[in-house]
Amino acid sequence: MSADELAAYDADHVWHPYGAFPASTLPLVVDSASGVALRLADGREVIDGMSSWWAAVHGYRHPRLDAALHAQVDRMSHVMFGGLTHAPAVELTRRLVELTPEPLQKVFLADSGSVSVEVALKMAIQWQRATGNPERTRILTWRGGYHGDTLNPMSVCDPDGGMHAMWTGVLPQQVFVPAPPTEWSDEYADTLREAIREQAGHLAGVIVEPLVQGAGGMRFPHADYLQVLREETRKAGIALIFDEIASAFGRVGGVTAAELAGVSPDIMCVGKALTGGYMTLAATLTTDEIAADISAGEAGGLAHGPTFMGNPLACAVACASLDVLAEGAWRTQVPRIERELRDGLASLRNAPGVRDVRVLGAIGVVEMDEPVPMQTATDALIDAGVWLRPFRNLIYTMPPFICSSDDIAAICSAVEAAVSASTAR
Ligand SMILES: *Cc1c(COP(=O)(O)O)cnc(C)c1O
Repeated sequence: MSADELAAYDADHVWHPYGAFPASTLPLVVDSASGVALRLADGREVIDGMSSWWAAVHGYRHPRLDAALHAQVDRMSHVMFGGLTHAPAVELTRRLVELTPEPLQKVFLADSGSVSVEVALKMAIQWQRATGNPERTRILTWRGGYHGDTLNPMSVCDPDGGMHAMWTGVLPQQVFVPAPPTEWSDEYADTLREAIREQAGHLAGVIVEPLVQGAGGMRFPHADYLQVLREETRKAGIALIFDEIASAFGRVGGVTAAELAGVSPDIMCVGKALTGGYMTLAATLTTDEIAADISAGEAGGLAHGPTFMGNPLACAVACASLDVLAEGAWRTQVPRIERELRDGLASLRNAPGVRDVRVLGAIGVVEMDEPVPMQTATDALIDAGVWLRPFRNLIYTMPPFICSSDDIAAICSAVEAAVSASTAR
């Protein structure tokens, strides 16, 4: 099929994320990608300022990641994980245990971020049941979060952003506290403490995205609230779950947000950048204690086991990606990108229609007063040579760590062009 035929068939038949028929904006056909560039079917080349949704941190067609996949496909692409194991899964587990806080020793390999959150929630609930607290089944979270699109993760997403009103009677009813401020507030810390104390009898766990709330609104909660959550959940005997699917592997300036904040959760989810953006894979990590309690419980184990669990191709490329990460180039790249995004986006702070500009690690966010007109903004971005996918009132970037200073400058100019195109109507 020609590019035009692909686009036409796509428009008639293919669901895209949060899609509708007909689509409100037409997707661009991508022919290939390498380094930080997407090559479109019409020959244009654009810088991917999204890292394919936080994932392609080392860029596309990385020689080491490509080689790892080629080598693995020549041995085996997949075998079932029930009763069988293999080097890529064990090697990946070893790397994850080493890269994450010390108490996290047991690793469940899941096939997507949402599934890893499902598993995390099950772990918390099964742990309570196994330790004599079957009435503790609910999850507390702060508003503004995003944890995935399957039903249980949806139940802990921001209730407004996740349109919970539409899902009344379908989603489990969870406990919400107000969204966390960027600044420290004694009052908000007390709100967290009181909510956990009041609800403890019903709670299996608390789940949050540490340091960066991603798809729920691209906000950066103050790190010290994580310490408050750690102390209160420990006192109450409930599981603290960090959803680090967006934040882990360098994006916020530490290997994990947990490490950066100096707080170790009981359960952690990672995904997205885990395979360097090559394939779908995620993991849920927990402590020896929780694993032992669950194993001694009535179910005799954790009640989850996906068909493609521990897929060797995904594990092999994840190992290669974590090896590149371990070499540490990101430790200078991410702070440089942070500086360049701060400088490059600073002038937008006073632009008409802009409510806020914020940067953390390799994440740059421009929050507008009004919803961003998607087609107008996308056209302006593509004309400026950059791929970004604004949502709601946000134009934001989380570029690959291998972006040069020129790439970051190009992304900042493109954001500027999108802001003025969005407000010039
Ligand atoms: C993307 C994301 C998820 C969901 O991951 P999928 O792989 O899309 O299922 C969950 N939590 C956070 C914080 C995410 O950013």
